[in-house]
Amino acid sequence: VNVAVVRETSSNERRVALTPEVAKKLKGKGASVLIEQGAGDPASFPDAAYKDAEVAGDAAATLGRADVLLKVQPPSLEEIAQLREGSVVIGLLQPHLAPERIRALRDRKITAFAMELLPRTTRAQAMDVLSSQAGVAGYKAVLIAAEASPKFFPMLTTAAGTIRPSKVLIVGAGVAGLQAIATARRLGAQVEGFDVRPETKEQIESLGAKFLDLGVSAAGSGGYARELTAEEREQQQRALAEHLKGIDVIVTTAAVPGRKAPRIISTAMVEGMKPGAVIVDIAAETGGNVELSEAGRTVVSKNGVSVIGPVNLASSAPIHASEMYSRNLFNFLELSLKDGALNLDWDDELIAKTCLTHAGEIRHEPTRTLVD
Ligand code: NAD
Repeated sequence: VNVAVVRETSSNERRVALTPEVAKKLKGKGASVLIEQGAGDPASFPDAAYKDAEVAGDAAATLGRADVLLKVQPPSLEEIAQLREGSVVIGLLQPHLAPERIRALRDRKITAFAMELLPRTTRAQAMDVLSSQAGVAGYKAVLIAAEASPKFFPMLTTAAGTIRPSKVLIVGAGVAGLQAIATARRLGAQVEGFDVRPETKEQIESLGAKFLDLGVSAAGSGGYARELTAEEREQQQRALAEHLKGIDVIVTTAAVPGRKAPRIISTAMVEGMKPGAVIVDIAAETGGNVELSEAGRTVVSKNGVSVIGPVNLASSAPIHASEMYSRNLFNFLELSLKDGALNLDWDDELIAKTCLTHAGEIRHEPTRTLVD
């Protein structure tokens, strides 16, 4: 098979779905690798680094020969039109957005795998792009907060007296939140975390942070959180409002699968915080954990708290984010690669459940309902 990658066309996307390292691994599995000229440039992988790939020319030339196209962002309608019928696309396809794109994939009889649909089982961990990219986001969010804060993170003992460490609170202790906690700790802050899944207490403490107990526990199915009841929400909010008065920096990462991000920090709570406090809301793009946050902007509250809503954080560390993303895709594709040929095993739940469209059909029930 020809496995291909093109330059990402979405604005602000610097990651590439195929790195030179993975091109080599694919070749080792008997596949041929095609890259659009300059595909890796935004991630600092020049064409010359792809020693095991053929530089196929422009996007149209690459797409027209692809059996398998690897993507970060969903393909555009134009790209879908240039793909051959029956070819395979693997990427973060955002099935809940742009129904016209899903219809185009279906109508072109593309076999599309949306990596956000990958079941989160133990066997799937090495393919889990949501986890690898969330880790990048958690790390970057803390650096952004540290940069924006008018305070140091660490404690300093100097001739000019002692500087007390910043108090940092991480809301949501999933993959992004735990990486945020670890990063804030490394910068020397006094860190607290909280989550509604009780098992996170031990995980937070193992990173040297304190578990903030707000008295609300809401474990859902499959290791995820469930949505809080109105009563639980109110209790969480009351306990949190009081606590936030002493906090210098907050990074919010809370999410519930398939829903808008839970609203956790109200404007009134922000207005009760100290001037100069900084909040970075990783969930700003998916609805926001913070009432004041806006995706792609910094909002300053009446009392001087900066609320930062970063977008596509993973793209801001494109070398390492691409390396992990590309390895995740390789591990997924490897399930179907036998002696350089593609052989999809529909009895494998990782293949079946990650499939969005195949052979002119939408295979993911919730998306079909949305599109038709
Ligand atoms: P996520 O991005 O869906 O959510 C982030 C965090 O927000 C979660 O920890 C969630 O509990 C928390 N949250 C939701 N509502 C909240 C609220 N109202 N207040 C505070 N926190 C709230 O989750 P994620 O990071 O992708 O993963 C969560 C967990 O899933 C992991 O820690 C792990 O146990 C499991 N997981 C398993 C695999 C696998 O086995 N392949 C892969 C990834 C994750």
